[in-house]
This record gives sequence, structure tokens and C-alpha cells, in this order.
Amino acid sequence: MVSYKQLGLVNTKKMFAKAVKGGYAIPAFNFNTMEQMQAIVQAAVETKSPVIMQVSKGARKYANPTILRYMAEGAVKYAKELGCKHPQIVLHLDHGDSYETCKSCIDSGFSSVMIDGSSLPFKENIKLTKKVVNYAHKHDVTVEAELGVLAGVEDEVSAAESHYTKPEEVVEFANKTGCDSLAISIGTSHGAYKFKPEQCTRDPKTGVLVPPPLAFDVLKAVEKKLPGFPIVLHGSSSVPQEYVKIINDHGGKLPDAIGIPEAQLRKAAKSAVCKINIDSDSRLAMTAAIRRHFAENPGHFDPRQYLSPAREEMKRLYVHKILKVLGSNDKL
Ligand SMILES: [Zn+2]
Repeated sequence: MVSYKQLGLVNTKKMFAKAVKGGYAIPAFNFNTMEQMQAIVQAAVETKSPVIMQVSKGARKYANPTILRYMAEGAVKYAKELGCKHPQIVLHLDHGDSYETCKSCIDSGFSSVMIDGSSLPFKENIKLTKKVVNYAHKHDVTVEAELGVLAGVEDEVSAAESHYTKPEEVVEFANKTGCDSLAISIGTSHGAYKFKPEQCTRDPKTGVLVPPPLAFDVLKAVEKKLPGFPIVLHGSSSVPQEYVKIINDHGGKLPDAIGIPEAQLRKAAKSAVCKINIDSDSRLAMTAAIRRHFAENPGHFDPRQYLSPAREEMKRLYVHKILKVLGSNDKL
């Protein structure tokens, strides 16, 4: 049993309270590789932003849970080495699917976990979430829960159809579970294909697909029921079209990939939304940089040659998100 406190990590409690008051959101970036971890830490240090580094089930399978845990410990030391005296880094389990997974993460040094009971009936979701909260709070670990279903595919989490969160359920859910934050469904979704072209309109000038707006009325109704309570948005990549174009221009095939416009996320960040999950955009940044690098340097075969520009591009993306979408800069 290792406490996250020994590793220099923090939970989300104070961070979220400040973010809700201050009208900004904390970035929650998924990581699977060393390069992603380095880019996240560099961006957070450069912008003086708190950051949530999150680990999905897919990441645990890909990289091995022990390695990811040590990488997070390394991230704290790396941030200090880069000149940040008091980094605020959370190691968070994304979409925990069982009590056992959450417990094993808590026992190995995670400072925050999500228990995703959103596919269960309401009462079952409460029961499972409460069980996780009881264990987590004993160890001062914070818990994110979910109500409502997001469409899309994310590392083994998938649903064909989304169901907006029902605002009339949130008070009972928060009170009965004791969760610290709540992920809600207001029209964001997982992956790089968030909407079908037929759900969108097309900008007549550019031909670019314009997705339907997020359900801000649902968000407002939730805020009214739970004033000041930390709300989380999953599936909030914007799928930058410049990356999609670089990928498609260099042998890739991502037809009609589409995300959530950044202006809408900025609006959400200024409300009770205090954690915004971004994963696909970093995948796109990495892939675009690597595809372009290989096209321009067909003779390169040293991974450092193509992973360096990939890391640079991801860092640029993270800095952009912190400054222009989340507003979490200069908060350390
Ligand atoms: Zn998610």
C-alpha cells in the first residue's frame, strides 16, 4: 500500500474548489507513453497550471499499471527539475469499471479515481459509487462518478447512443454517494468521430462540418440543483482540422473526423465545469507530427527522430488548451 502523498501527488479537492470559484477548468490529459507524460509536464510547468494525468483501462493494458504509476511519480520529480517548486499533479483513474480496479489503483498511489457506473440502473450506480467512495475517502482519495451516457468509443468504453444527464437525479445521486465530482452528458462524446455528418450542418464557405451545440440548458439545470459542485466533461477533444488535414495529406484516412468547437468548451470551463478530458486531440497531434516527419524524412528510422517532433507537437497542443480553452494557467 502506497499513499499518493508519499509520491508528491495531490487529490482534486482543493484544485476543483478553486477552479469552480475562479471560473476555469483543470486539464485532464490521458497518457500512455513517456513522450505524452513529458509533454504534459512541460506544458503544465510552462503555463503554471495544475494538471490531471489520467490512466484509462486501455492505457493500463498497453503500458502496464505499475509502469504508469512510476511514470506519475517521475512526473512530479520532473516538474520540480523543470523549475516548478510546488507542482499540483493528480494521478487519476479514467473510467474505473469496478470496485476492485479502483481499490487497486488507490492502493498503488492514485490520488483520484473515477467509478463509471453510468451504464447501470440509477440505484445500482449509486450503490457501486458509494462503495468506492467509502474506500477512497478513507485514504483521502477523491472520486469522480458519472450520470448519463456519452456516445462514442474510448478505450473499451463504448455506447451507441447518448442519454443526457437528468438534472432531477443529480441531487439524490450526489447526496447518496458522497462523490467529489460528477461527469455529466450534455452532448460531448468519446473519440475522433463525435458526430455523424448528417447530425451536422456544413459551412457553405469552407465545406467544414459544424456540429450541433452542447446542451447548455442541461448544464445550467444541473448547476442550479448542485450549486458549486464540480462538474466534469468527458470526450471534449476538438479534433483540430489542421491535424486531420496533415494526417490525410500524408497517407492517413480520417474522413469527416469531428470534435467539439473550442469556443463551446471555453464557455463550459467558465461555468461549474472544472475538469475537461482531452485525449483524442493529443493522439491526432502525435500522429500528424509523425506522418509529416516520415513524409519529409523517409530515411529516418531512429524513434527519437520522429518522437521528438511528436512530443513537441503534443506539448504545443497542451499549452494551447491550457491558455485558450481551460484558463488554468498561472494558478499554481
Ligand atoms: Zn471518458
